[in-house]
Amino acid sequence: MDHAGKVAIITGSTSGIGLAIAHAFAKSGIKLAIHGLLSPAEGEALCGDLRRQYGATARYYGADLRDPEAIARTVQSVTDDFGGIDILVNNAGMQHVSPIESFSPNAWNDMIAVNLSAPFHAIRLCLPSMRSRGWGRIVNIASISGLRGRAGKSAYNATKHGLIGLTKSVAIETADTPITCNAICPGWALTPIVQKQIDALAERESIDQQSAAHRLISLRQPSGKPVKIAHLAAMVVFLCSDEAEEVRGAAWTMDGGTTAL
Ligand code: NAD
Repeated sequence: MDHAGKVAIITGSTSGIGLAIAHAFAKSGIKLAIHGLLSPAEGEALCGDLRRQYGATARYYGADLRDPEAIARTVQSVTDDFGGIDILVNNAGMQHVSPIESFSPNAWNDMIAVNLSAPFHAIRLCLPSMRSRGWGRIVNIASISGLRGRAGKSAYNATKHGLIGLTKSVAIETADTPITCNAICPGWALTPIVQKQIDALAERESIDQQSAAHRLISLRQPSGKPVKIAHLAAMVVFLCSDEAEEVRGAAWTMDGGTTAL
């Protein structure tokens, strides 16, 4: 992908899938707005690593995505610092697992805010820049939980299904332009959000980490192994390429065969 000089904002890019996408973009010469919940010093250190490894241009923006005003401030700062935005990856996400009767309403509200409302705000705020620059790519990190249900995941399932619906609507609104909007639907990948679920299972069942990871991931994914975050990042890179210009409103899985079951 030859997108050297293009500007990308990746939400939640200080760890896991978002950080893998940042590395993949940095290799392509894309300028990076790294976002997360780290302190300014920690965020700057992470950007320093990306600069040293790839000669990348990278700046850190801290913002709690539950706050729409913080999202607006971040998009404005990135626009001021870089002159515009070409690529938006809505990657930040939260997980909370509980039967619905005991599901905390606060956790529900936070997940709606981070997993669904934040992408809405980021898209509506970034699109004008993409339209004025005459090109754009929006990639939303959904989940196989956006395509199927699972007990205990009412909020996660609802937000990820909603994110795919949002993706389709934006794709149609931009279909006659060089701006595309797509989602990817990862299966289980080993990242901090999944590690927390492994820890909880290990504690609940009094089993070791390896057995918990095996039960949570290997037994549920037909491939028997987690999806690699670098491979998910490569799918995002393809969706941002010129060759993907007519991929619009898609929700592509990379899930070791899980949704084929
Ligand atoms: P992760 O925990 O490494 O990443 C989540 C990111 O979201 C973190 O950087 C975190 O700082 C950010 N975030 C959470 N709450 C936030 C808030 N209030 N404000 C700002 N940022 C916030 O885990 P990950 O697996 O890399 O998750 C990335 C995305 O991939 C998520 O949307 C997740 O739902 C999705 N996903 C992950 C898997 C998997 O198996 N790991 C599978 C399907 C989908």
